[in-house]
Amino acid sequence: MKILLANPRGFCAGVRMAIDVVDQAVDVFSEQPVFVYHEIVHNKHVVGRFRDKGVVFVESLEEVPEGGTVVFSAHGVSPALRAGAEKRRLNTIDATCPLVTKVHSEAVRYAKQGYQILLVGHRNHQEVIGTAGEAPEAIQVVESPEDIPRLTILDPNKLVYLTQTTLSTDDAAVIIRALKKAFPNIKEPPGSDICYATTNRQHAVRQLAPECDLVLVVGSKNSSNSVRLTEIAANVGTRGVLLDDAGEIDWSWFTGAEMTVLVTAGASAPEDLVAGVCREILGRFGGEIELRDVVEEDVEFNLPIGLRRAMTERGMDPEAKRLRVTSPVITQEMYGATPLTVSARKRGER
Ligand code: SF4
Repeated sequence: MKILLANPRGFCAGVRMAIDVVDQAVDVFSEQPVFVYHEIVHNKHVVGRFRDKGVVFVESLEEVPEGGTVVFSAHGVSPALRAGAEKRRLNTIDATCPLVTKVHSEAVRYAKQGYQILLVGHRNHQEVIGTAGEAPEAIQVVESPEDIPRLTILDPNKLVYLTQTTLSTDDAAVIIRALKKAFPNIKEPPGSDICYATTNRQHAVRQLAPECDLVLVVGSKNSSNSVRLTEIAANVGTRGVLLDDAGEIDWSWFTGAEMTVLVTAGASAPEDLVAGVCREILGRFGGEIELRDVVEEDVEFNLPIGLRRAMTERGMDPEAKRLRVTSPVITQEMYGATPLTVSARKRGER
C-alpha cells in the first residue's frame, strides 16, 4: 500500500484562529461556561473535544443566559444576530474568519452602492446565512445555474456576484460562467472570494488524485470544504470518500495492498485523525507514506482584539498558546509502531 499524503491539508488559518479563541476563552472566563453559537468549525471531533471541556454549543442566543459569554463561530453571523446578542447584553467574542468578514464587507459596500448581489453558495450553510443577512433586500442566493431564470433582476447593469469561501472552484466556475452569459455586465468581486485554503486543498487533490486509486478525505459530513474535496477527486476520475476518523473506514473501498491512496483533510479536520486513518490502513496492508507538498502556506490570523484585551487585563499572554500555522508535522509517534517511510517531495516533482 502506498499512501500519498497531500500537503496542504487540514487546518487553515481561520480554523486555527477559531479553535484558539475557544481554547483561550475557556481559560479567560473560567468562572462561567463559554457558549459558542453554532459549531465553532464543522468538525464533530473538534466540537466534541470542546464539549468535554465544558463548552456549550447553541443554535439560538436564547440558550445563553443574560450577561453570558458567547463566541461566534468561524462561519460568521448576520448583523441581526449581533444585535440580538447586544440586546441580551451578552459578552461576545467574534471568531469569524477574516476571509469571511471580507465577503461581508463586500456585500455591505455593494448594497450601499445600489447593486443587487448574487451570492453563489449553499443557501443553508451558516456562512451564506450570515453574509446574506448583511443586506437581505439586495442579496439573492444562487446555488446552481438552474436558479438563474428564477432571479428577480431590477437592472442587469447594476449587478455583482460574490461567492461563499468554501465552494468547489470547479462548480463555482460553471455557475459564474452561466451568470456572465445571462448578465454580460455583471460585476466581479475585486478578488476571488473562495479562500486560499479551499483553493490550495482542492488544487492538491486535483494534482495528486489522478495517480491514485482512491482518495480519502478526513472531515465531517457538514464541512463544506471537505465535501468539495471528494467532488474534486471525482471530477478528475478518482473515487473520493469522506470519513470522520479511522473508525469509519470501510474495507470494501480497498481492492488489496497494491493500491495508491491519497489521504487529505478538510480545513477543519485535526491532524491526529489523519494520522489515525493512515495508521489503520498501514496496519492492515503494510506499506509506506509519501508526503507530497503541492502548495506552501504561511497565512496566520490574530486573535480578536476583544479577547486579546481580556487576556492582557488578566495578566495572560495572548501569544503564549497560539496554534502556529505550519505544515502538519508527521512524526513516528503519531504512527505508533507502524513502520513507515516518509519522503517529502518538492512542489511539481514527480
Ligand atoms: S476555510 Fe477559508 S474562509 Fe473558512 S475558515 Fe478556513 S481560511 Fe477562513
